[in-house]
Amino acid sequence: MISLKEARKKVLSVASILNPEEVKFTFSLGRILAEDIYSSFDIPEFNRAAMDGYAVISKDVTNTSFQNPVTLKIIADLPAGKTTKIKIGNGCCIRIMTGAPMPGGADAVVMFEDTKEIKNYVRILRSVNAQENVAFAGEDVKKGELILKKGSFIRAPQLAMLAALNRTKVKVTRRPRVAVISTGDEIVEPGVKLKTGQIYDSNSYGLCSQVLECGGKSYRLGIAKDNEKILSKKILEGLKFDILLLSGGVSEGVYDIVVNVLKDAGVKMLFWKVAVKPGKPTFFGKRDKTLVFGLPGYPVSSMLNFENLVRPAILKMLGRNDWQRFKVRANFEELIRNNGDRTNLIRVKLTGENERYCVIPFPSQKSGILKSLVWANGIVVLPARKEIKKGEEVLVELLNVEF
Ligand code: AMP
Ligand code: MG
Repeated sequence: MISLKEARKKVLSVASILNPEEVKFTFSLGRILAEDIYSSFDIPEFNRAAMDGYAVISKDVTNTSFQNPVTLKIIADLPAGKTTKIKIGNGCCIRIMTGAPMPGGADAVVMFEDTKEIKNYVRILRSVNAQENVAFAGEDVKKGELILKKGSFIRAPQLAMLAALNRTKVKVTRRPRVAVISTGDEIVEPGVKLKTGQIYDSNSYGLCSQVLECGGKSYRLGIAKDNEKILSKKILEGLKFDILLLSGGVSEGVYDIVVNVLKDAGVKMLFWKVAVKPGKPTFFGKRDKTLVFGLPGYPVSSMLNFENLVRPAILKMLGRNDWQRFKVRANFEELIRNNGDRTNLIRVKLTGENERYCVIPFPSQKSGILKSLVWANGIVVLPARKEIKKGEEVLVELLNVEF
């Protein structure tokens, strides 16, 4: 039996980054950049008005106030998107809209709110300093600047930046293709009527969703009976993918045939059994380039092992190195003890009260209690033979927050 840390290290040492592919930038949301993005021009490319108002020579309006206004002649009108060759001389101004290039001679903009227009003249009611209300060339992005780093996650701001940079095509890492198989004679598809002794397949749906949530592509290959021939056929199909996930049948019961069938299919075992609760019987192996995880059947075990082992592998394959969840310190609200020799993964809920965080564990921490994961928003790692005292500060891994 190896520790969870060692198991993860092993998985990460085997998982390797996938090839890049080029996509239209509009399809890059949620993908991982496979190239550094530099800017080939300044943004903005020209000095421009940052406010609607009048482009002026700031020296013309020093010491100006409501009581002591200055009147300037309006010599042109400049909307955004237009340019003018007209230069401003002393005593003159140009009516300008936000985003329009600053006309020659002008070094500041007085906003409309500080003026009063009378025919072709405007009364300036407030002074402005040189450069006030002007956005400068390159103040957002400089030509040649590294703007988005390889390995970064493309969210809305990154996608907007690609558009601003005129990067209509972008290299992203190929998404890992992940096959998911449920095993067990008692497992049936949701939608049919249950006979006594049967339960609906929830694992494959949970696992496929987890795959999607961390950026992979999931392919549900259905349910295999605890029968070597049937299972073997499905496994061979699953071995064509980047990752194969199985759930159930990895313990040492009479019908737990997954590990043997995997070995017969040529999967090289890298570990089997991890010192973690829930999720001890977890299997990990490899055939050619395919990573194979045999996850335990209990729903919490399969999903938490995905969280701890499969998700880091997927993120690494995508070119990310930040598989760690965001962690916060919080006070544990109860006494909890781990008398066993395996690390416990405690499903907790983090709440913020009176400007401090506290966590409470779900009342049942058994592996079959899927409700505990539905309820939880975090995990507290409780090492073997350790306890957490009521009120003690702990580190909470936030399940729903990713940075
Ligand atoms: P196993 O690891 O096959 O011994 O299964 C352990 C427990 O998890 C049993 O109670 C199974 O019925 C349950 N289980 C196995 N596979 C699934 C599944 N796909 N969905 C929901 N529960 C499952
Ligand atoms: Mg089973």
